[in-house]
Amino acid sequence: MSKVMIIGAGGVGNVVAKKCAQNDGVFTEVLLASRTVSKCDKIVAEIHEHFPQSRTKFSTAAVDADNVPELAALIRQFGPELVINVALPYQDLTIMDACLETGVHYLDTANYEPRDVAKFEYSWQWAYRERFEQAGLMALLGCGFDPGATNVFTAHHAKHHFSEIHYLDIVDCNNGSHGKAFATNFNPEINIREITANGRYWENGQWVETAPLEISQDIYYPNVATRKSYVLYHEELESLVVNFPTIKRARFWMTFGEAYIKHLNVLEGIGMTSIEPIDFRGQKIAPIEFLKAVLPAPESLAENYTGQTCIGVQAKGLGKDGQPNVHFIYNVTDHAQTYREVQAQGISYTTGVPAMIGAMLMLRGEWMKPGVYNVEEFDPDPFIAAMNEWGLPVDELAGIELVKD
Ligand code: NDP
Repeated sequence: MSKVMIIGAGGVGNVVAKKCAQNDGVFTEVLLASRTVSKCDKIVAEIHEHFPQSRTKFSTAAVDADNVPELAALIRQFGPELVINVALPYQDLTIMDACLETGVHYLDTANYEPRDVAKFEYSWQWAYRERFEQAGLMALLGCGFDPGATNVFTAHHAKHHFSEIHYLDIVDCNNGSHGKAFATNFNPEINIREITANGRYWENGQWVETAPLEISQDIYYPNVATRKSYVLYHEELESLVVNFPTIKRARFWMTFGEAYIKHLNVLEGIGMTSIEPIDFRGQKIAPIEFLKAVLPAPESLAENYTGQTCIGVQAKGLGKDGQPNVHFIYNVTDHAQTYREVQAQGISYTTGVPAMIGAMLMLRGEWMKPGVYNVEEFDPDPFIAAMNEWGLPVDELAGIELVKD
């Protein structure tokens, strides 16, 4: 039925490609393109090995997604309906430009970030709204798990459980263990930039800034564990407080182990997490890029990963009957199980499956209108039904406050 181009062959690209192969009724032809074509070839070889029954036709290509003419030429040559961008946030704008130039829909899982400053905001991509509208094209932003499924969960709260959401708490627990002294679960550069930045949450119509990891509390993650969780800024907060204006406070919490924080503190203390390039033997090099080269590749963690992730959204406010209400919606994913299914750890899996689902809903026309949108602007019901169908079961807990004020 549909031809799709996936850009990026890292941890997430691997999962998106394999889920497309499983969903061959929708994704009939896929071009997997990335900077290093051997990574694409490896994924396609694994697809042939693990999903021999899939009718999806795969091809691969090398592409530099920072280069708009090169991208546009490849898109024209392949002729997809949609580009799924799971390269890095640095490439969002060039890929959106290439989609506009070639008349193709767009989806990504992370907001654009300039390379030289750790700044997480949608302004650059929202500025494309009119151009996409006028071209009759759609761009769906942030369709991974967080952002992505967490935006869908918030829309589900608003549609089914609340007349007014007042307090929103997004919680992200990785209770897994990969056995390494220190490693990040997705691209180290992106991950460390996010965690070492100041925290920020929304309260009474403005952003409140905190020092990195300044606010914490123990949170119970159903069926997984009670874990110390820290407030940090996460990009979905920006669109959610715009699209649900009754929200008085919105926070994002993530778990980190003590050993992880200790390593990070040391690395930061000695300047290894800096994005400022230094001169090294006549070469300009950003310490964090060097650190990335030293750390284990996120996809290499998958094989021996055990334990689970739990990501969910707690809303508090007025229920449909006007009475005070608290409700939690979440997913639990098991690392070993995702490895058996698609040779990936849970973090890549929970990002890649929603990207495939968003693409499917766009291609089926259920989530399709010209312009640039965040995920919560669409009907959450078909998305949650697809999560249940495609490997991310969704559960709910009513009336229990897991995150305290
Ligand atoms: P990886 O670093 O594992 O993979 C990134 C891929 O993009 C690599 O194959 C890389 O190629 C390729 N790439 C990088 N630059 C270019 C370029 N200029 N041209 C073409 N290809 C390029 O990252 P992940 O798979 O872990 O993450 C992918 C995306 O998903 C990121 O944007 C990340 O922020 C996002 N994400 C979103 C989450 C969510 O829940 N919303 C959670 C986790 C991640 P090469 O191998 O040559 O370096």
